[in-house]
Amino acid sequence: MHETKNRVPQTGHPENDSEYAGLQVNAGVAQPSSVNPYLSRMRKHRQVLFTVDEYVEGILKGDVTRLSQAVTLVESTLPEHQALAQEVIAKCLPYSGNSVRVGISGVPGAGKSTSIDAFGVHLLNRYGGKLAVLAIDPSSEKTKGSILGDKTRMEKLAVHPKSFIRPSPTAGSLGGVARKTRETIILCEAAGYNHVFVETVGVGQSETACHSMVDFFLLIQLAGTGDELQGIKRGIMEIADGIVINKADGDNVDRARLAASHFRNALHLFPVPDSGLVPEVLCYSGFYDLGIDEVLQMIFRYIDHVKENGYFQFRRNEQAKYWMYESINEQLRNGFYFNPTIRSLIGPTEKQVLGGEVTSFVAAKRLIDRYYEEIKN
Ligand code: GDP
Repeated sequence: MHETKNRVPQTGHPENDSEYAGLQVNAGVAQPSSVNPYLSRMRKHRQVLFTVDEYVEGILKGDVTRLSQAVTLVESTLPEHQALAQEVIAKCLPYSGNSVRVGISGVPGAGKSTSIDAFGVHLLNRYGGKLAVLAIDPSSEKTKGSILGDKTRMEKLAVHPKSFIRPSPTAGSLGGVARKTRETIILCEAAGYNHVFVETVGVGQSETACHSMVDFFLLIQLAGTGDELQGIKRGIMEIADGIVINKADGDNVDRARLAASHFRNALHLFPVPDSGLVPEVLCYSGFYDLGIDEVLQMIFRYIDHVKENGYFQFRRNEQAKYWMYESINEQLRNGFYFNPTIRSLIGPTEKQVLGGEVTSFVAAKRLIDRYYEEIKN
């Protein structure tokens, strides 16, 4: 202790003593800023907006970059972006409608992305055209990252020159997310995509939302759990236009066939759907590329049939009607909840209801009356 003290020069640091045997102190390096210096430039870059005609011209030419930028507008929550998006959609509308829209649903792990990759590549290589893959993922709002429609999950399709893959919009309620997907379909069709796949998870209300925008709803199921039929909600069986059992490969083939026959029997217990066709049930393997063409043929058969008997157009009309009411509901809801006065009153009112000072009904009526007063002025 004493010795060390002796070696300390009067003015310097002990580690700078020539006899010091420890590590040397080097001049430090300035830490980079924790904020990306290019971020503001990127932000500015992202906000570059084009005119309505520039978007529309680009889309009609099939320019994928312009299409992506327009979809970003559709997904934006900023009112000025929304207004621009609505104009672009309106101008694209006359060029839309010329695709076959297929909804693809299944629980996580059923093999949706593997299958979409296989179906998509087969469809494009064998039958030609262009394919857009979109998604409705209600969970993405919570996780802030959409899982469905992710390019990395569809490796072959992601690099196919004729495909356009877009993950699920993330902001808003399920209704809002679904509306954005539906509007994106319009833009994709105007850009010449004659096949559209809409992926969704086989849980909750998302299938109903997906069903309300597609011409054919495909349900992917797995065999082997033994309780597949019990696990299926009646509602899903009723909206499926075709059921496919995935992973019919290796020693799973027999189980898949058995599951398929269970489904066929169960489907006969339901009334014949409005399309006039009892859904077909097929086995395939997305991973090993087995039975892929048969699944596509099943979809083509259905589409041919419903185009002939008029159900195709009837269903699209019904969907248009449904979306008109959905849009009204969404706009009324947003107008109410985003109104500044309502926003300031809703928390305290909720507390009053929780505290038993006022009934839910009276509280709701007070807020709504106040809202109408606000918008009158
Ligand atoms: P998703 O969550 O519905 O999109 O399912 P994925 O496509 O990610 O597939 C889930 C898992 O099942 C992955 O490990 C796939 O490799 C596997 N899988 C998908 N399709 C098949 C198939 O046809 N056969 C077999 N054996 N495995 C498959």
